[in-house]
Amino acid sequence: MTYDVIVIGGGHAGSEAAALAARRGARTLLLTQNLETVGQMSCNPAIGGIAKGTVVREIDALGGIMGRATDAARIQFRILNRSKGPAVQSPRAQCDRSLYRRAVRGLLEACSRVDLYQGTVARFLLRRGCIDGVETLDGQRFTAPAAVLTAGTFLRGTIHQGLDTRIPAGRAGDAPAVAIAQNLDDLGLRSERFKTGTPPRVDGRTVRLQQLERQDGDPDPFWFSFYERAVHPIQKPCYLTYTGPEVQEIVERHLLESALYGGAISSRGPRYCPSIEDKIVKFPSAKRHQVFLEPEGLDTTEMYVNGLSTSLPPQIQLEMLRSIQGLEEVRMTRAGYAIEYDYLPPTQLTPALESKTVSGLFLAGQVNGTTGYEEAAAQGAVAGLNAAGRALDSEMVSLTRHEAFIGVLIDDLVTRGVDEPYRLFTSRSEFRLLLRQDNALRRLYPLAERLGLLSEGERRTAEERLQAEDQVHGWAESTAISPGQANPVLHRSGSRSIGEPVRIAELARRPEVSLGDLLEAVGIAAPTESCTWADIEFKYAGYLAKEHSTAERMARMDEFSIPAELFYEDLDSLSFEARQKLSAVRPTSIGQARRIPGVSPSDIHSLITAIIRTQRGATVSRET
Ligand code: FAD
Repeated sequence: MTYDVIVIGGGHAGSEAAALAARRGARTLLLTQNLETVGQMSCNPAIGGIAKGTVVREIDALGGIMGRATDAARIQFRILNRSKGPAVQSPRAQCDRSLYRRAVRGLLEACSRVDLYQGTVARFLLRRGCIDGVETLDGQRFTAPAAVLTAGTFLRGTIHQGLDTRIPAGRAGDAPAVAIAQNLDDLGLRSERFKTGTPPRVDGRTVRLQQLERQDGDPDPFWFSFYERAVHPIQKPCYLTYTGPEVQEIVERHLLESALYGGAISSRGPRYCPSIEDKIVKFPSAKRHQVFLEPEGLDTTEMYVNGLSTSLPPQIQLEMLRSIQGLEEVRMTRAGYAIEYDYLPPTQLTPALESKTVSGLFLAGQVNGTTGYEEAAAQGAVAGLNAAGRALDSEMVSLTRHEAFIGVLIDDLVTRGVDEPYRLFTSRSEFRLLLRQDNALRRLYPLAERLGLLSEGERRTAEERLQAEDQVHGWAESTAISPGQANPVLHRSGSRSIGEPVRIAELARRPEVSLGDLLEAVGIAAPTESCTWADIEFKYAGYLAKEHSTAERMARMDEFSIPAELFYEDLDSLSFEARQKLSAVRPTSIGQARRIPGVSPSDIHSLITAIIRTQRGATVSRET
């Protein structure tokens, strides 16, 4: 069978890759080991959070599926950091695991250009060094000029529990992908090992919930998707408890039985998702650690024990659980475990996420050394768009660092590489105020529109929303408010009163005053979402202007492209380290070259001079 794009893997990267390749016009095959696990959350059933929530909205703005699936499956929703500045506020949703899976599958099946097929890919088929298709373990062949590999933690995956239990697996219950890992070696792609872990799950019927701190979600309406308004399921609370001295004592007593500390695992794990063993060893004076009990879904009493990731033997995990307040008689339904797997250092990829070695091969998700559903989905979206671009002979798409958090993520991966599983934070971006969740549509709709990714209805919805935002902004700029109308609002907000009429925009710049309240005082009922955007634009106008001007400078550097054939080893004016790093990464622009660790400003100066000299030389030789 012949397609334009073949996507291997039906996880978070694979689902987005298939959806967006299809939206770009490619006939797409999603080939995955098990169709029942399309959209499976391997770990915590939660989407969003700091920076990640913004990424979900960016994927949605491009027409992706993660936001829509989350809206349909969420059973608790919160805006994190609500009391802090807009740069660090982020939406997060706890999801029903099976509803989420069903939503992803349904959204993929709604794409007329996507075919789903169950099979394990064993190797890539090549023609003249370029992708020509794939072959499955049972010998079936599928042809396409572009493929996206999104195999997650499956490449030579090994599960560890304690010192003695080692199970070859992609995750609990799934076989590892070994043949394809071998094939990647044969194709000359370099791989290394990382590890990650997951906590035990427990039966909620055996938890003394009344002893724990109950946490309900936010009641305010919120949808991750800009285009659709799914009906949310019933909302559920989470519960908070803490580990105490008993857990510390148990972990210390059994530390050498843990796969991580007993020597069974040597590869690196995510520093920001530490196991309970790590927390006890690294913070021995901490009296307690938070443990959140989160519902796994509406159709089950099982709960996820967030904060207790571990690779201790199962009987020790149970002992540890039962020493925590509220869990004294708990029944464990699944033991936690650690998993080691291959990833491919992402400096082997172009900013379009295409392999520099094999043309037409795109890589996305955990295979590139990241961790997290949103990070995987973001890469899937870009890889899917570009695989379609390669197959349909269209432009390659890469998002810049000031356009999207997705751009920050991919630029970090392909330029700097990873030395531990990479996770997004707001601090990874130098444009934190520009890259907000509320303005993701404004930032990315023009690209989605240009690439033809949206339906007529979606385009109309987007245009209406952006126009409503502009209208609110315009009203505030052009409408004056009298002291009689403004002072009650200012008084309530603890702000200085006014004696003369002023423009609403002027008062909206005060941090303590809400734009929505001012508009209401003059009789303008503006939609909350439009107010949110306009209010931030007024309050942070100075900072935003600064970020915009830095972004413009960066854009100029990114537009200064480096010829692909440049031979760095010949450039004596560069330092030895710069020559090595530049040869390894092969940056596409001066902007990217500047961000490579080890490349100094004087190297950049020499590089620019060399490029200009080469180009002049080429012009002269063309003229003579
Ligand atoms: P996956 O979701 O793993 O999907 C891979 C897909 O590829 C699967 O559908 C699989 O069947 C398919 N596949 C693999 N090989 C083949 C093949 N040869 N042919 C066909 N199909 C194939 N993230 C966090 O943010 N925090 C955590 O604490 C955390 N803990 C984790 C703990 C565990 C035990 C695991 C397994 C993952 C954890 N993650 C965590 C990571 C999170 O699950 C991943 O980041 C995310 O699922 C990656 O998405 P992906 O699409 O890259 O891969």
